[in-house]
Amino acid sequence: MPHFIDIILPIPIQRTFTYTVTEDEANFLQKGMRVAVSFGKTKMYTGLVFNIHTNAPTLYEAKEIHQILDEKPLVNEQQLQHWQWIANYYMCSLGDVYRASLPSAFLLESETIIYKNDAFLDDSILEDDEFLIFEALQHQSQLTIHQVVDILGKKKVMPTVNELIKKSAIYIKEEIYEQYKPKLVKYVRLHSDYSSDESLNSLLSELSRAKKQRDAVLTFFQLATTKKPIKAKDLTEKAKVSSAILKSLADKNIFEIYHIQTDRVQYKGNTNDLKVLNEFQEKTLAEIKETFKEKDVTLLHGITSSGKTEVYTKLIQEVLDKGKQVLFLLPEIALTTQIIVRLQFYFGEQISVFHSKYSINERVEVWNNVLENKTKARIILGARSSIFLPFSNLGLIVVDEEHETSYKQFEPSPRYNARDAAIVLAKIHNAKILLGSATPSLESYFNSQENKYGFVTLNRRHGNVQLPKIELINVKEKYRKKEMNGHFSDRMLKLIQEALDLKEQVILFQNRRGYSPVVECKTCGVSPECPNCDVTLTFHKFKNELRCHYCNYQRAMPNSCGACGSNTLDTKGFGTEQIELELKAIFPDFKIGRMDLDTTRGKYGYQKIIGAFEAREIDVLVGTQMLSKGLDFDNVSLVGILNADTMLNFPDFRAHERAYQMMVQVSGRAGRSKKQGNVAIQTYNPFHQILQQVSTTSYTEMYKEQLQERWQYKYPPYYRLIKITLKHRDFNKVDSGVNWLFKALYSSFGEHVLGPTAPAIARIRNQYIKNIVIKIPPKQSLANTKNQITKIRNTFEAVKDFRPIRFIIDVDAY
Ligand code: ADP
Ligand code: ZN
Ligand code: ZN
Repeated sequence: MPHFIDIILPIPIQRTFTYTVTEDEANFLQKGMRVAVSFGKTKMYTGLVFNIHTNAPTLYEAKEIHQILDEKPLVNEQQLQHWQWIANYYMCSLGDVYRASLPSAFLLESETIIYKNDAFLDDSILEDDEFLIFEALQHQSQLTIHQVVDILGKKKVMPTVNELIKKSAIYIKEEIYEQYKPKLVKYVRLHSDYSSDESLNSLLSELSRAKKQRDAVLTFFQLATTKKPIKAKDLTEKAKVSSAILKSLADKNIFEIYHIQTDRVQYKGNTNDLKVLNEFQEKTLAEIKETFKEKDVTLLHGITSSGKTEVYTKLIQEVLDKGKQVLFLLPEIALTTQIIVRLQFYFGEQISVFHSKYSINERVEVWNNVLENKTKARIILGARSSIFLPFSNLGLIVVDEEHETSYKQFEPSPRYNARDAAIVLAKIHNAKILLGSATPSLESYFNSQENKYGFVTLNRRHGNVQLPKIELINVKEKYRKKEMNGHFSDRMLKLIQEALDLKEQVILFQNRRGYSPVVECKTCGVSPECPNCDVTLTFHKFKNELRCHYCNYQRAMPNSCGACGSNTLDTKGFGTEQIELELKAIFPDFKIGRMDLDTTRGKYGYQKIIGAFEAREIDVLVGTQMLSKGLDFDNVSLVGILNADTMLNFPDFRAHERAYQMMVQVSGRAGRSKKQGNVAIQTYNPFHQILQQVSTTSYTEMYKEQLQERWQYKYPPYYRLIKITLKHRDFNKVDSGVNWLFKALYSSFGEHVLGPTAPAIARIRNQYIKNIVIKIPPKQSLANTKNQITKIRNTFEAVKDFRPIRFIIDVDAY
């Protein structure tokens, strides 16, 4: 009897492919193992076994596989189940999910490029075939798998290449990835033995003969007068001593060398026990456990700085005690070194961090550790892609800051929301899932009010610190009364000055980077635009450049207008760079820092700035929305929002909800440890209902009002949205395609099809864009709707003229 397998290939075609195998192979193979196969005329791929059976395909003759690549499944049954849900729900191929799930080192294909690892020296451990490839790489800087086939003179090369990767003799093409390094800057402090004056005097006389060491200690006291932590580097430079001197002082227990980030944690308790919960947290924990008796999903609505993280750690501990795995999802790993350090403080070695920006080797390692259920991968801390790891025994998923947009993947497919996919993942494992936020998404809050999710609140800041006082500053009035200095109102400047006088720190939020977003000619009114996108260029003063924030196009700032030739170019609007420059002029004695995409690009970019701010080397930090994501600084007493209006006027049905979340989250960075903080918001529109709700932190009021609008205008959570986007270089092609598509959809769904519309930026990277949105009413079957859309899509793609148009489907496109 012939035997067959259906396999998933990492390509965007909506089905599996059948290959034939021998009886022995069929007996050996299991679902979730990889096989190397050829596909098309010349391509070779790594496929994944999805099914094993004896039914020959009817439409084509099944080819043989090249070979089996695994001894044991690399992907387990639960994952396959999860993938099917994702493919189905988000209307993509299993191949898309397969490609997104596995680290690319597991997915060799004919076009994969391999390189020699220069750090690999011991070629004696290589087998003959492996050595041949390795040697070829001495003469040629890179090879494709295709070329390897020629070199070895056989088709079955994948295991050899896999083995070379495993032995670290070669690596495959990857971007330059950042490695996670929590400890960054070395600091020096005096050992606690020397806190009294007498001990200090005796110390100095003790050191009278060791001149260099004495210099180091004296310089240390000089630097210590600033009351800021002292960097080892500053000390060695100023005292003109080597770091060996510091080390010998540390060996003598005179100095202590420490790293600022671990210090923050050790400072509060010096033990690895979990913190003792305060009474409110204790109650919250009990309530969460109570809801888990009946519900699988619970939403924790806890105000900023209420100690949600501490509550999570208790739940995590209980799940670990049962020998189960925990997935802790974070919106953006780069911004969350703080939380990694905090959790490592409690759970140490049991935590693995996973992120798509990690090197392939690191990702492979985490994958294998999770697959084998190793103790060092009991807790996975990761961004959205960590939902794809091979968990076998999940007990709990925590989705921190569940409202965050970065849980949604927009490009490439699968366009999933990791929070929603995590809920399904938890269900597959019979695990519990806790969604946490101070500003829950409307959908999650709605689900909790509808009793679909459990619901628990935590309304006290730890230590009973009050939520910050929020005041709205009317800039229209301030301009009229001439009380503005650049983009700062006199009131804002006064508050900043007061905070700085008390040696407290300030965060200023401006959700636009660069110097100013629009340059305009005062004579003719024309603005320089990007040649590739329909958008005006942003002026970056530091480099005297105009840049496109959509395609990274850049050019020098011209002296005169390109349209009329007058030299009357003027800037309009303002970004973080301009704010930073104005502040430097107003507060020349203080250190101003900036955190936005432009300053955090380099390796460890974020960590450096966050570390410097924690160490109080920066007094005022100016930044974009990056500042709103769960950071915990204990000395920030003022948060200023410079221009609330751009957020409110964004053309999107969620703009108001998002503006509320953003402002409340940024405000939440103020007054976290000792005393109540201040928040000042500059706006032209102080009576806007969202600003009123922000100023009183009235989440439920915001919720009710927004929900009302969602109902009225037919938006989620009542209606579901599927967005279809067409893209092509030729405007007319997209236009005729989208008109055809609209008619077809309209005849099925009528008035629930909106469009076709061009987005606010109608052309990006020379691709013209058109959108159609399909609204699905509460009672309409989602499955039927999707089937119908798929049918229409197939017909569309059968039209020869439309075939080159990119067709993108985004389910829950928000
Ligand atoms: P949230 O995540 O709700 O914004 P955090 O968990 O970051 O709040 O807590 C805010 C700060 O208060 C943190 O520095 C945290 O260590 C501290 N904290 C919270 N709960 C406790 C507790 N029970 N004991 C000691 N410190 C706590
Ligand atoms: Zn002009
Ligand atoms: Zn552009």
